[in-house]
Amino acid sequence: MSLLRTVVIIVSDTAAADPTTDRSGDVLKQAFAADAAGKFEEPSVEIVPDDISQIQRAIRRWTDGENRANLIVTTGGTGFAVKDFTPEAVSPLLDREAPGLVHAMLRTSFEVTPFAMMSRPVAGVRRKTIIITLPGSPKGAKENLQAVLKLLPHACMQAAGEDSRTAHAGGVKKLERDAGVSATSAGGHSHSHSHTHDHHHDHSHGGHKAPKPRTDPSQRPQSNDPALGATARARSSPYPMLTVTDAVSTILSKSPAPIPVSHPLTPDIVGAVISSDIAASEAVPAYRASIVDGYAVIVPSDKTKLKGTFPVASVSHAQASSMPPPLQEGQIARITTGAPLPEGADAVVMVEDTVVASTTEDRKEEATVEILTDALEKGENVREPGSDISLGSVILRKGQRISAIGGEVGVLAAAGIKDVPTYRRPRVGVMSTGDEVTDISFPGELQGGMIRDSNRPSLLSLIRGWGLCEEVLDLGVARDTPEGELERRLRDALRTADVDVLVTTGGVSMGELDLLKPTVERAMGGTVHFGRVSMKPGKPTTFASVPFKGTADGARSERLLFGLPGNPASAIVTANLFLLPCLQKMSGLQEGGRGLERVLVTLAEKVRCDKARVEYHRVVVSGARDGALVARSTGMQRSSRVGSLASANALLELPQREGVLEAGEKCEALMMGPVLGFGGQTAL
Ligand code: AMP
Ligand code: MG
Repeated sequence: MSLLRTVVIIVSDTAAADPTTDRSGDVLKQAFAADAAGKFEEPSVEIVPDDISQIQRAIRRWTDGENRANLIVTTGGTGFAVKDFTPEAVSPLLDREAPGLVHAMLRTSFEVTPFAMMSRPVAGVRRKTIIITLPGSPKGAKENLQAVLKLLPHACMQAAGEDSRTAHAGGVKKLERDAGVSATSAGGHSHSHSHTHDHHHDHSHGGHKAPKPRTDPSQRPQSNDPALGATARARSSPYPMLTVTDAVSTILSKSPAPIPVSHPLTPDIVGAVISSDIAASEAVPAYRASIVDGYAVIVPSDKTKLKGTFPVASVSHAQASSMPPPLQEGQIARITTGAPLPEGADAVVMVEDTVVASTTEDRKEEATVEILTDALEKGENVREPGSDISLGSVILRKGQRISAIGGEVGVLAAAGIKDVPTYRRPRVGVMSTGDEVTDISFPGELQGGMIRDSNRPSLLSLIRGWGLCEEVLDLGVARDTPEGELERRLRDALRTADVDVLVTTGGVSMGELDLLKPTVERAMGGTVHFGRVSMKPGKPTTFASVPFKGTADGARSERLLFGLPGNPASAIVTANLFLLPCLQKMSGLQEGGRGLERVLVTLAEKVRCDKARVEYHRVVVSGARDGALVARSTGMQRSSRVGSLASANALLELPQREGVLEAGEKCEALMMGPVLGFGGQTAL
């Protein structure tokens, strides 16, 4: 028999930063050598930080590819510390759970210490590989491994597809002998003790059995394999619950850096972000220009000599073709606003400070003009070359956004910037999922459980309104039931529509037709970075990366997928909270992905908080005459009620707590649109 291939994955931030701190790797190697030599190869050891996606990636490399391991043991991250995520990383990857192995490990640990309660191991099979999560301490890891090690070769061979009839040919006794175990020392562990089945539990209270769950979530049989049907679906979500802040940082860490591109200066540049500081390639003005309509003069050193009557030697209009002739002392030149000063002139007298003294014979032209003032400084009413924008000065900085107000476009045009260094804006696709979801174009009355697709049109308008995307594509509705439809539609979106970010709604809750997560993880080889967020509405929000083989150069890359909840209010709230920062980062905004602008508002009425989750309560924020921002609820907040967003311009971020915030209290709000004016009028 060839030796079984084994991998030890050390899960530890500390060891990932400094591999010399790890001791578990060696201890486990020794345990394999001592107790299972001749069965297992010497394990390869890998170190990953306490990060769900990195743990999953490390495991997948050894389970899904050519280079398959028979056994993966992880060590670390199984406790209750905030960064202990290993079971949450491993569980969703398991095709089949192995509670027996978990039981054996826990039982062994309990014999050593009651602290065994603090370990949350999982075990099972992914494809052909057995996976076991050991605790992080070298001693605990070794004891747990020893608890199951002797039986693992047999389990590994079965998982790898060995014909079980051959393996069982000699009967269970032979298997036990081969493994060096017996019924009384199943783990072959030194503290062998007899485990009998004739003990009975003390059911007090007069024999009445109070209903109580006998499983803890790690032991509930669950699978994310939709092929196993409704009976085998997960009965509690295997995804850890992230805070909104952690979810946003996860998104930002996975969102790709922006890519610089050149964009011609056309109106559709509005919304783009500048990718490098832009220097003026032309000065503004390019010549000495008059600020007023009047007469260009040479200011004499004796100011009193400015007053008087002077011949009008020339006329300078704001026009492209010619420059006026130089001005001689004792002459003046008529000039219009914006026109170039004649050489020699150093100030302009306003037409208001002059009168015509004499005309030409045809009376149409001024021959001489009298200047009525002597209060004029050198340089007055003159814009020096480059005084608005000097040549080479920075007019816009990297990370600044080109607004629809027009200032940025204006300054670029004035300074002669024809091609603007911007960032490529992401392409986003929006798809609804669900058999009941019916396009708005469906004629006639809805039948049975049909509902109108409101998510797609509302998300398309929301995302287009942000102006951060090159294109926001409508990808229609994907049905749940035809097998493989969701996968096919998701793949099409990446391949044909070539979107950088795919936004779906629906299919992320706990029903057996909620196929998004399993489709992404199982069928598409994607990684779910998070599948639950502690917020209301929006708890099942899902964020994943999906591998994508580009058609053009065959290069592999990853695309992002936001699986937003199907409930309409949840979909819009979560798009604002999670999708927006991602698109802000991808489009290169200076502030990265800070999401909606946050302000402090005063509550116009009392609002109830949720004791379990942070709640995003839809409100209308308007400016009061005293300068305060006042928030008024849009009414019933149920997550299915899209109308709660119909007039809302902000989301109150209600703290997670019992009770209410009273009228007059302050609360933070996230602005989705402009603040309303005093009279509650829209800003536009
Ligand atoms: P799901 O997450 O698929 O279980 O959907 C949760 C709820 O949202 C269900 O009541 C769905 O009918 C509803 N829903 C799902 N997709 C849409 C949509 N595109 N427009 C409106 N409601 C939807
Ligand atoms: Mg659905």
